[in-house]
Amino acid sequence: MAEPGSIGHGHHQVLIVGGGSGGLTVASQLLRARPELDVAILEPSSVHEYQSGWILAGAGLLPYGETHRPEAAVIPAGATWIQGSAATFEPEAHRVITAAGESISYDVLVVAMGLQLNWSAIKGLPEGLGHHGIVSNYSHAHIATTWETIRGFQGGTALFTHPATPIKCGGAPQKVMYLADDVFQATSGVGVNTHVIFCTALAQLYPVKAYNATVERVAARRGIETRLLHNLIEVRPEEQVAVFDVREEGREPFREEIRFDLLHVVPAMAAPDVVAHSPLAIEGPGGWVEVNKDTCQHKRFADVFALGDVSSLPTSKSLAAIRGQAPVLVANLLAQLDGRPLAANYDGYTACPLITSFHSVVMAEFDYDLQPVSSFLVDPTQERWSMFLVETRVFPWVYWHRVLKGRLHESRFLKPFKPLVRALGLARKES
Ligand SMILES: Cc1cc2nc3c(=O)[nH]c(=O)nc-3n(C[C@H](O)[C@H](O)[C@H](O)COP(=O)(O)OP(=O)(O)OC[C@H]3O[C@@H](n4cnc5c(N)ncnc54)[C@H](O)[C@@H]3O)c2cc1C
Repeated sequence: MAEPGSIGHGHHQVLIVGGGSGGLTVASQLLRARPELDVAILEPSSVHEYQSGWILAGAGLLPYGETHRPEAAVIPAGATWIQGSAATFEPEAHRVITAAGESISYDVLVVAMGLQLNWSAIKGLPEGLGHHGIVSNYSHAHIATTWETIRGFQGGTALFTHPATPIKCGGAPQKVMYLADDVFQATSGVGVNTHVIFCTALAQLYPVKAYNATVERVAARRGIETRLLHNLIEVRPEEQVAVFDVREEGREPFREEIRFDLLHVVPAMAAPDVVAHSPLAIEGPGGWVEVNKDTCQHKRFADVFALGDVSSLPTSKSLAAIRGQAPVLVANLLAQLDGRPLAANYDGYTACPLITSFHSVVMAEFDYDLQPVSSFLVDPTQERWSMFLVETRVFPWVYWHRVLKGRLHESRFLKPFKPLVRALGLARKES
């Protein structure tokens, strides 16, 4: 088990900021490729979170204890863990200053800091979360309360929201809703007395046409009301009222208030302030690290790379995306260190296991062209029990034992199957 280093972090060949899913995957793959490399990980937290497990744990499908492990246990052998936070990026000087005031310089920097959940962007939410039926599986601390609230629900209006910003796991706001609806239907007297509403700031349920058609069918089958272009801006916890900013085409923007008995909130998200206010940030909303979409290299600083939620890579933010990004980043980072041209390209691969019930998942995989692909040689747009088993039983194991160890990556896993998948017509172009 790695212990955090305390001295001598002045300079490292590779400095990775963030020891979450992306940072650890890159560190493991780098050290597998070149064990002699000097790799340091700057990470403040003593606990590593398997965030994909939060929805499962929030529905009793995965023991809560399997969603986290000590950071020391997941730092790859050979890497130096510096327990601390990045406070300032100085890319012209090739260094990062920590919150403790320490300067760490690098030959190559990898930014993998994830994103920031802006709970306070919704008026009344920070005080209300966890009370008066207001819950969220996007907060690790509230997973248990979310599950208890769903199970104890006595009927009324159950409201689920999706914000206007990019979010991690774009399908998660719906997954929790479909699971909750199953619980309501199975609880005597509750299903018939419950009105489920999904309020999304987006113009459709899911951004990929083929998968959107599937989830529209699921919502209709369940009798779930969908309100598009509804962005949650305020909650009044004691009154149990949610206020939405509604921007429908051809109409003046207006406010709509909906009374709820249960409210599951997904907050607005953006790059951490430390990144957004640094020279690494892209101009405009989000403040993401501005990288080339093919190579993961920074557009202005050749010795800086980024992946995962913090990056500007224009794909859906997910752990699955990291599986596609990490091998590309690692190949290009090593080329950069060696002075070779950057040859590896990322195709935007991402995935979202859309849990549509306690026995079905739509394994929604796609790329930059929003073209469905399948790693499993089946039509990915269909709800499947087999994919439910993969999501709930296989993926948690794969995460801890393969992904974090740098033993599984998209190019090796998926690429050999792509020609076959396309030949079988399983990967369809959007019409
Ligand atoms: C509820 C939920 C459900 C999800 N479901 C799925 C799913 O089913 N499938 C899927 O593929 N993905 C899913 N995801 C998304 C997935 O978990 C993320 O996309 C993934 O964890 C992103 O990895 P990352 O390395 O970019 O960020 P993270 O894993 O969040 O890691 C970022 C790390 O940076 C550290 N950090 C923060 N600030 C600093 C700083 N100043 N200095 C140094 N370090 C810092 C943090 O402590 C953290 O360890 C889900 C996420 C959530 C929240």
